Amino acid sequence: MPELPEVEIVVRSLNKLLRSRRIERAELRRKLLAPSIKPHIFAKRLAKAQIKFIHRRGKHILFDLDNGRTLIAHLRMSGRFMLLDHDADDPKFAHAVFHLDGGERLVFQDQRHFGFMNVAETPRLFEMKELSKLAPEPFSDEFDDGYLRKLLKSTSRNIKQLLLDQTKVCGVGNIYASEAMFIAGIRPTARSNSITLKKTILLRKAVVQVMNATLEIGAKISLDRVNIGGNIYGPGADGDWLVYGREGKPCPKCSAPIARIVQSTRSTFFCRKCQSR
Ligand SMILES: [Zn+2]
Repeated sequence: MPELPEVEIVVRSLNKLLRSRRIERAELRRKLLAPSIKPHIFAKRLAKAQIKFIHRRGKHILFDLDNGRTLIAHLRMSGRFMLLDHDADDPKFAHAVFHLDGGERLVFQDQRHFGFMNVAETPRLFEMKELSKLAPEPFSDEFDDGYLRKLLKSTSRNIKQLLLDQTKVCGVGNIYASEAMFIAGIRPTARSNSITLKKTILLRKAVVQVMNATLEIGAKISLDRVNIGGNIYGPGADGDWLVYGREGKPCPKCSAPIARIVQSTRSTFFCRKCQSR
């Protein structure tokens, strides 16, 4: 599943490729991709609209259009955008197709069918239920030591669960949570309100650090026109993550074997020695 930095990179690529292009015609081929809007309305709201620019809020990709509307797209597990020439065949699982000026097609492809789209009136965009409850972005000024301190003090939930709660911290997914807790030396099972101020500050820095590292790698990768949404490897020395997906392999700090546990059905990776509490 793409995490926040990957989505940011997808947004940058989409901007390069699609800014000021016109959607001549839009087809919603899988109704459930946009459950709150009928396919003919979807088509009507997007037809002949020019893409002004593309931005994001959390992992929602937002296409601002010149007709006062915004197309909202979420890649979820496996969604990706592909920009195809007029003579290229549609790929399998083409759930939405945007016919652009000049004959190219932007295709939203989604093998696992969890993707999501909606069309909003731009002035009311942030009142949409998808966007109104999102917490501060990790890259924003709002996400400071004071915010995180207050948040941690407010609950005895374990820190892993709290980091993944999109209404509390926006955009930290499973991989980045493991990586950030490792850098900050925090045990994933620790109760949030037991974490010291010193470790809270380390954790905030670590969240930003792991996301920035991926952005830097992403800036060097040019996502090609047929694969806007590719996976990006982690910031470790061998293009690997520090702890994520490395069960049994040596900890990069102390060489003890990395442990894996399951929390709320998701895997968490950590070092029992470096993350003692
Ligand atoms: Zn260790």
